[in-house]
Amino acid sequence: MQTFHIVVLPGDGIGPEVIAEAVKVLRAVECRLREVRFRLEELSAGAGEYLRCGDPMPPEVFARCRACDAILLGAMGLPDVRRPGGTEIAPQLDLREQLELYAGVRPIRLYHAEHSPLKRYAAGEIDFVMFRENTEGMFASRSAPHTPSEDPVCDTIRISRRGSERLFRAAFREAARRRGLVTLVDKSNVLPSMAFFRRIFDEIAAEFPQVRAERIYVDAAALYLVQRPHTFDVIVTENLFGDILSDLAAGLVGGMGMAPSGDIGDRHAVFQPSHGSAPDIAGQGIANPVAAILSMAMMLEWLRHPETVRGAVLVRHAVEAVCSDGRWRTRDLGGALGTREMGDRIAAAI
Ligand code: ATP
Repeated sequence: MQTFHIVVLPGDGIGPEVIAEAVKVLRAVECRLREVRFRLEELSAGAGEYLRCGDPMPPEVFARCRACDAILLGAMGLPDVRRPGGTEIAPQLDLREQLELYAGVRPIRLYHAEHSPLKRYAAGEIDFVMFRENTEGMFASRSAPHTPSEDPVCDTIRISRRGSERLFRAAFREAARRRGLVTLVDKSNVLPSMAFFRRIFDEIAAEFPQVRAERIYVDAAALYLVQRPHTFDVIVTENLFGDILSDLAAGLVGGMGMAPSGDIGDRHAVFQPSHGSAPDIAGQGIANPVAAILSMAMMLEWLRHPETVRGAVLVRHAVEAVCSDGRWRTRDLGGALGTREMGDRIAAAI
């Protein structure tokens, strides 16, 4: 019997609501698995923790995150809780940087034709994965010191060879397992940092002759994602572009409640829905837990034990079975199911 130690960080807003359902489904799938068990350790971090003790991620919580097998996170940050400089509390960004979780992996899949605002797509016809660089890019500027009187304020895009190579290799490996196409999204026609990014992409593409590589500018990517999302397989891009385009991509398949994600490094990984804390719907029991449940399935796959990989398949099939039935929809998808009822349905399907 192997026991996996999972740190659970429910966080702020709808985070605790959707994580409760992911844990419910994890416990349901655990009953179906042989040889593996999960030890869950729930810890407090985020804007709420910042208000309580002045530190959104106390060192002992961070140490537990470093020591565990995987981290399951809800959402962190609240619009009214800000640092003196005006930015939101976002310890999940610190986790990405300090644990070197360089690949923000965001699968986008349409589970029911009516979830999409695009009318011509059936379930399964939109199915791609976005790889967002997670540790540098424009976000690298977020902790640069600014004096309050500074004018103008400049942010810098950081693109390093090491950071880019490891991201591109991960994207090409994923494409080799999927339909064999990687699309680089950049702005190399304008920004020197992006021209460097593209040069490194071309070098890594040469290492994977069995995978087709294409390159498009970020403005065209926004257009094509709406016009022909079915043509994408793996998209790889810079941090800020990925932040923006992955919300657009989520919109194609039903919104943030349908978009899971994993922040993955070579040794550590955090799994969390792509959405934020959604304060506009927090505390009402109406958030869609599917993104959190699918993020948990990504975690099972990443743990790489044959039984956890089987568990990931069980969870995805259960989500597919429930979501392909038009009766079971949360509010964001045009239905009336609450967060808990949706979690119950998926757990029952397992
Ligand atoms: P962040 O910047 O922290 O990623 P955000 O400002 O992009 O967050 P979200 O919290 O992701 O905002 O919310 C964006 C919109 O999507 C809101 O209208 C919110 O209600 C909705 N939303 C987010 N998550 C869910 C969910 N799980 N179920 C239903 N609606 C959601």
